[in-house]
Amino acid sequence: MTEMFTGNFTQQEPIPDDAIEAAVRVMRSGRLHRYNVAGDDPGEVALLEQEFAAAMGVKYCLAVASGGYALGCALRALGVKPGDKVLTNAFTLAPVPGAIASVGAVPVFVGVTEALVIDLDDLAAKADEADVLMLSHMRGHLADMDRLMAICDAAGIRVIEDCAHTMGARWRGRLSGTDGVIGCYSTQTYKHLNSGEGGFLVTDDAEVMARAVMLSGSYMLYDRHLAAPAPDVFDTIRYETPNVSGRMDHLRAAILRPQLRRLSEQCERWNERYRAVEDGLRGTPGLTVVERPDEEYYVGSSIQFLLLDWAVEPVQEVIRRCAARGVELKWFGGAEPVGFTSRYDSWRYAPSRPMPASDRVLRGIIDMRLPLTFSVEDCRLIARIIRGEVGAVWQGVAG
Ligand SMILES: *Cc1c(COP(=O)(O)O)cnc(C)c1O
Repeated sequence: MTEMFTGNFTQQEPIPDDAIEAAVRVMRSGRLHRYNVAGDDPGEVALLEQEFAAAMGVKYCLAVASGGYALGCALRALGVKPGDKVLTNAFTLAPVPGAIASVGAVPVFVGVTEALVIDLDDLAAKADEADVLMLSHMRGHLADMDRLMAICDAAGIRVIEDCAHTMGARWRGRLSGTDGVIGCYSTQTYKHLNSGEGGFLVTDDAEVMARAVMLSGSYMLYDRHLAAPAPDVFDTIRYETPNVSGRMDHLRAAILRPQLRRLSEQCERWNERYRAVEDGLRGTPGLTVVERPDEEYYVGSSIQFLLLDWAVEPVQEVIRRCAARGVELKWFGGAEPVGFTSRYDSWRYAPSRPMPASDRVLRGIIDMRLPLTFSVEDCRLIARIIRGEVGAVWQGVAG
């Protein structure tokens, strides 16, 4: 009998009941805007910021309209200007170069290794080309953050971390987003907390946070923030910083606060599923499992494997055959951007130099979401299906 998988790769878990109740309370109050609060009620957004800062062990946190907004705001808060160059990953998703383009800056792409992290040799080689790195922890893979920070510190490069896929992850115990000057997170539906759209920016730098708060559209109400620096830090910044509205509202904050309390538990549930797929795939001929370093505590909300040096046709055949059995795989090697899988050379607004070693890796990357609506047993089944289909195609290729 041919096993089929019938789960849905885009189906996240429902919003928990306590979060729904909190959202209903906000709607009943009619006070949805973050600065529309009654009496001494700090409001859901300010409380969420305080709780997220505590959860990440940082001083300051700003909740914003999206992860992409957080990235653009981070660049502005660091003073990146039109025409400036910003180092970033060749392997990432479109909102990252998009944030750089949104401030008129120019991405300088840094290659990707077979471990699916930024190529630190390439970073070191390009370190004199820019003074900001927008580091995307793409698909949750953490580079050696000790070496990365050493390279950047030596070159005077300030690091903005894109933690869209690493909220809750750690490098040698340090939470992702706390090594750079600024950490940015997304709470969009496919990330680790779900408010439909939303994001956070965290930092320990008072001036950077004051600028970010002003940028996000705080008018002169920054004293209502519970995870922002003291009002005197705003004394001059408030005259110099434009308002680029991108605030979070109470409704989203209300559904995020209960989810944040469960974040570590959810990370463990993702990892159980990740390990079930990984175990099932290990040892499949022709397929390379991406081994994770011991220093990394990852959050397995998606999994990647490599079909390294495969020709285009057999890769497409594997994807077709898995799809026919209900397993949705995405491929980063396609010539054209499809869905979310675009590549550095598909972003034609941004110049790029050829990167043959990265191209080889990108051509081999197969990507799959692991929503928590899948059981661990589902994950074992998915792995059996992939293993079977990769095996069948590989046998044909290898003759
Ligand atoms: C989702 C995502 C973002 C941005 O998040 P949005 O909230 O959708 O704007 C940034 N980087 C990566 C790698 C992402 O996957």
